[in-house]
Amino acid sequence: MPHGFHGRILTIDLSSGKIGERRLNEDDVKKYTLGSGLAVRMLYDEVPPDIDPLSPENPIFFLSGLLTGTIVPTACKMSVCSKSPLTGIWNEATVGGHWPAEFRMTGYDGIWITGKSPKPVYILISESATPPNVKILPADDLWGKDTYETGAILQTRHEKHLVAVIGPAGENLVKIASICFDPPISRFAARSGIGANMGSKNLKAIVVKGHGKRVSVADPDGLKSLLKEEIPQIKENTKALGEFGTSGGAPAVESFGDLPVKNYLLGAYPDVVKISGQAMREKIWVRHYACWACPIGCAKIVKGELAGFGKFEGHYPEYETLGMLGSNLLVNDMNILAYANELTNRLGMDTISMGSAAAFAIECYEKGKITREDTGGLELKWGDAASIVGLIEMTAYRRNKIGSALARGVKEAAEIIGKNTIDYVSHSKGLDYPAHDPRGHVSMTLSYATSVRGACHLEGLTYFLDRGIPAKDLGITTPPNQFEESDKPKIVFDMQNFLSLFNPLGLCKFLFHGRVGHSQITRWINAVCGWSWTPDGYMKTGERVFNLKRLYINRLGISRKDDLLLTRANSYPKKEGKAKGIAANLAKMLDEYYTLRGWTYEGVPSEERLKDLGLL
Ligand code: SF4
Repeated sequence: MPHGFHGRILTIDLSSGKIGERRLNEDDVKKYTLGSGLAVRMLYDEVPPDIDPLSPENPIFFLSGLLTGTIVPTACKMSVCSKSPLTGIWNEATVGGHWPAEFRMTGYDGIWITGKSPKPVYILISESATPPNVKILPADDLWGKDTYETGAILQTRHEKHLVAVIGPAGENLVKIASICFDPPISRFAARSGIGANMGSKNLKAIVVKGHGKRVSVADPDGLKSLLKEEIPQIKENTKALGEFGTSGGAPAVESFGDLPVKNYLLGAYPDVVKISGQAMREKIWVRHYACWACPIGCAKIVKGELAGFGKFEGHYPEYETLGMLGSNLLVNDMNILAYANELTNRLGMDTISMGSAAAFAIECYEKGKITREDTGGLELKWGDAASIVGLIEMTAYRRNKIGSALARGVKEAAEIIGKNTIDYVSHSKGLDYPAHDPRGHVSMTLSYATSVRGACHLEGLTYFLDRGIPAKDLGITTPPNQFEESDKPKIVFDMQNFLSLFNPLGLCKFLFHGRVGHSQITRWINAVCGWSWTPDGYMKTGERVFNLKRLYINRLGISRKDDLLLTRANSYPKKEGKAKGIAANLAKMLDEYYTLRGWTYEGVPSEERLKDLGLL
């Protein structure tokens, strides 16, 4: 029996109702690990590139990370991968919480779902289901319900089971729909419309209860003794994250000129302190929460009330949500922010893209590009609760002209509205920016431009380096200058290769805050799997996975012409704040970056590099 994985992928065809499984071999796992690494191998090899993302034939993969469900710190993640309805290219949405670890204890490493059920259904994976412990059950009574309501019903029906569920937005094929795991506490696989992939299959939820089948660990005592020394250090280095959550970093982000403000128009936002993690901790915090095996515990539960709308209790707004549904909309009231977060989560949408969509709509309204006729009579104003709540509901239910446009994502919405409103959108490869303004860290200009799924803040994380978090294994011990371009191609290259394995391994990227490098992770992998990986081998595997994803999007027509940041955030230097006047020279950085990657001028991996990486 292999160590570190079960070697079984559950396969479900929702058109025919056929349930089966496929076996994995250790060579594939060593080469790509699991999670998004294995998903891209399967998508590249077995799915026609021109497939419609919302067609029954387009698969959706739920794949555990290699270490998920073990005692390795933060080994809680799963990659949900598919061809994206929002961008038409690769998508990997990662999620933590407890569902992925529970799923892994069912004895499977992942699920490969194809087809489309003729009626709404949910999947039950549990000892109580008939062999092979999987059932497809009717979900007509759940269709139309929000993520929390559905979660509560399913948890009553299937006691002690965990739930992953889409909301009305996923059912309505909204291209910014998310999948909610573990409601009502909730973690989300959110970006690039992954919830619409699930909705297109008439699949409302997946309910799991593990059978205690943990993956076998090759050297449990060795792993325990490594962790005994390392966990206290990780805790010490991440104290602030544990106390104030990701939103605790918001004032620092603002001081670096990195915060999105008024749809990326402004460069400073002193009011950020009113909605920061510190302010929420003082006023609306209820308790801390941690994902499986996490010694950091960055998540929080908050409780409050928004005048005119009612009470809320749920997951607190993460930093990305604070940036996009907060400062980007000029919100300075934490109750508006937390309520908007809660509503977006209940309806099952990505809070980043919803913030981006709302900012776009309010700017369009302010500049006369849309009117009350388009909004169902609603006046749209910056920082206004009614405007934001109205836009969230209109988008999830595709109501009115503006809701049905925003439901297609902000880039397509601008194309529908016309009138040069594309000028109000910031995106790369069709994915709108998250809450890091690339003018604040020029490395993020290159990172967004070359991220495989579009403007993704998680593929490079280089802003952490500028803010003083070292990456000793990569030789970065002092903070790089946030505006200096010459060192950034190498930094982005190294960071992308390093981070490229986090999703395949099932690890949380906040380990980086804990000063965990790839030498340490390599020791964990070897203890769990009984392998003899080296730190260099880790980096090479990361580079292999990154390049395989690049090959997949190359095959869909992506090349240098798409490695761009479009419109606002690179066309308009800011007039205030620390990043005032900054506009990075992307073309120059791109040339150097392509050389490091061994890619042609057009951004295609060379034969030589592919051979070196074992991809040819
Ligand atoms: S640091 Fe936060 S997001 Fe990461 S695993 Fe821990 S609780 Fe989850």
